[in-house]
Amino acid sequence: MSESDFDVERIRADFPLLARQVHGKPLVYFDNANTAQKPACVIEAVDRFYRNSNANVARAVHTLGEEATAAYESARDRLARFINAPARDEVVLTSGTTQAINLVAYSHVLPRLQPGDEILVTRMEHHANIVPWQLVAERVGAKVVPAPITQAGELIVEEFVARLSPRVKLAAVAHVSNVLGTVNPVAVLARECRRHGVPLLVDGSQAAPHLAIDVRALGCDFYALTGHKLFGPTGTGMLWAKRAHLEAMPPFFGGGEMIREVRFDGTTFADPPHRFEAGTPNIAGFAGLAAAIDYVNALGIETIAAHEQALLAHARAALGAMPGLRFVGEAPGKAPVISFLVDSAHAHDLATLLDHEGIAVRSGHHCAHPLMQFYGVPATLRASLAFYNTHAEIDRFVAALGRVRGLLA
Ligand code: PMP
Repeated sequence: MSESDFDVERIRADFPLLARQVHGKPLVYFDNANTAQKPACVIEAVDRFYRNSNANVARAVHTLGEEATAAYESARDRLARFINAPARDEVVLTSGTTQAINLVAYSHVLPRLQPGDEILVTRMEHHANIVPWQLVAERVGAKVVPAPITQAGELIVEEFVARLSPRVKLAAVAHVSNVLGTVNPVAVLARECRRHGVPLLVDGSQAAPHLAIDVRALGCDFYALTGHKLFGPTGTGMLWAKRAHLEAMPPFFGGGEMIREVRFDGTTFADPPHRFEAGTPNIAGFAGLAAAIDYVNALGIETIAAHEQALLAHARAALGAMPGLRFVGEAPGKAPVISFLVDSAHAHDLATLLDHEGIAVRSGHHCAHPLMQFYGVPATLRASLAFYNTHAEIDRFVAALGRVRGLLA
């Protein structure tokens, strides 16, 4: 399907929230990297679960318990296929990327970490891919080391590789930067990491809505993603890990659902992935996430990417023609995330004025302080696009930006 055949109006009709007004104007939702809107099929799957099937998972033999377990497990199947995982039981269901990364930090990295060891990240990471590593590193006198990036916002691969010393116990990189939109060359990094015997974790939070993900082709060890950016409910996500890693990992959270036998003289644990899924999960949320993945698959990730790239080109051309506007992040082949600065206008002031025009963009540090420090700015304005956005919305946004910056001049 070519970009001109993409029936965006039909797609928008699937997203009830997109029809609302904000401050009396039709909403333009350009904050998709923060969280994405949900199609009706996702909302209905959550609703259907609570109306018809609500029960707990994996413990009841009654019909509702079986339906709840099937709904929950269906998300594992969808996720495994979505990332081309070799096996469904390599997918641990989590509350999101943050929980997935913390699980790897405490269960995989911490037991291996010695004083003086390092965890290698990049300058462009989200705090969720920095702070968990710092917390475990501090416990043993290890440290988190950033690989540098260029002014254009690209990882300097040779510098990353140069830091893969025997001290490095894990490398962790974003597949796609939430601020810059940069798509990191994960397959290349994974190959280098393998050569140096360093496991690689990929934070796929911002890749999942835009790119086809194939963990086998990427060759990484861990892949984390979050459901709410993938048009699913909040409080859902996953960690995929190679089976050997999961089997070697001790539990992180203890409780119900993750044990084999509990005894006061020694408890034994379930096999992965259930070993890492203590307590009652967000069952309705995972029913919704399964529906979201079906929705994305039905559209087709290539079709989505073609439309988004056309939107990105349009937005960059229109914004680039504005005097005094500076892009932050200009890597070729980037995802549809546009960070920028306008003259001396503060990003928060611009975002507030744009909100009065019905336009939702994000301003701030985007949970990436070290990246802001690199660029020497406290904040950027960020427009992040999804497949339901339109060329007309971009025109409205650019026109509104021209007006509101005039108000601040
Ligand atoms: N990593 C990246 C690159 C992100 O953009 C985000 C969300 N902004 C996260 C991690 C954290 O995701 P969550 O809050 O859903 O766990």
